[in-house]
Amino acid sequence: MAATAFARPATVAEALAALAGGGGRWTPVAGGTDLLVRVRDGARPGGLLDLTGIEALRGIREEAGALRIGALATHAEVAAHEVVRKHAAALAEAATVVGSPAIRNRGTIGGNLANASPAADLVPPLVALGAVVEIAGPDGCREVAAEALATGPGRTVLVPGELIAAARVPLPGPGRTSAFRRLGARRALAIAKVSVAVAATVWRDGALSGVRVALGAVAPTVIRAAAAEAALEGRVPSPDVLAEAEAAVRTDARPITDIRSNETWRREMCAVLLRRAVSALAGAHARSGD
Ligand SMILES: Cc1cc2nc3c(=O)[nH]c(=O)nc-3n(C[C@H](O)[C@H](O)[C@H](O)COP(=O)(O)OP(=O)(O)OC[C@H]3O[C@@H](n4cnc5c(N)ncnc54)[C@H](O)[C@@H]3O)c2cc1C
Repeated sequence: MAATAFARPATVAEALAALAGGGGRWTPVAGGTDLLVRVRDGARPGGLLDLTGIEALRGIREEAGALRIGALATHAEVAAHEVVRKHAAALAEAATVVGSPAIRNRGTIGGNLANASPAADLVPPLVALGAVVEIAGPDGCREVAAEALATGPGRTVLVPGELIAAARVPLPGPGRTSAFRRLGARRALAIAKVSVAVAATVWRDGALSGVRVALGAVAPTVIRAAAAEAALEGRVPSPDVLAEAEAAVRTDARPITDIRSNETWRREMCAVLLRRAVSALAGAHARSGD
């Protein structure tokens, strides 16, 4: 068996040049927590293009009205970052529950996005928060809405030769808040069976606006829950409104039955998690004092 080649570019330009000249040989690798499992299971990439030497892909900073999170930011960095916790609570919450400490210290936001698992924990918050993904390629940089990045399990709109450079989360206006809830078989080291992220502006009277709801692990990709969003939009989430939103989210979900859960349970858990996430929004708003 041919040995796998290895390269560690120091800049995005060097990485893109390698990809352009490699004839499909190179597979990017960041933390390796998804890729090396595939290698263990028999995948044989022609070459590993280690992105971890590229300083420009690191760091989390405020820039032009957004929070720019470099593709190499680890789950642990995202979870601990003060500005992420303050302005993108759902994302910090999701990063806190990924895998285990070891996985959180190695796994990256770029890898989570590029891997395109419908159960990826960081994706529902990014979708609910209206994030865009910066993609670097031979013709420069392009942007794709987080919700449009994945096209199916393990598939994205990335074309050969492109890299994810960052995710950009718009900084929220007054009263805007977000929450993430998920269920797995265990608290640690268990992929989500269902997850829900919600972002909304909470007004003084408790009414919600600009509601965005994203569902994980209940469709081939992370999806928006349009009917649930409509049921909550402009309304105070009273018990009756929440009941309507729960009925709506059951219709938004498109789950399957697999070895981890069945379809009916997943639909029901979407409703339960939506209720919990919306209740958490009201609590977060009260604490913020906006
Ligand atoms: C034991 C275990 C538990 C886990 N638990 C969870 C969990 O609870 N929740 C969860 O969401 N995930 C979980 N994962 C999956 C994984 O840890 C995450 O998806 C992680 O974010 C992947 O990031 P990485 O940097 O390790 O990606 P890598 O393995 O390095 O790469 C993954 C894929 O993305 C591509 N890639 C990486 N970076 C880029 C980039 N910048 N541009 C383009 N392509 C890129 C690679 O080519 C590869 O195809 C778990 C994995 C393991 C092994």
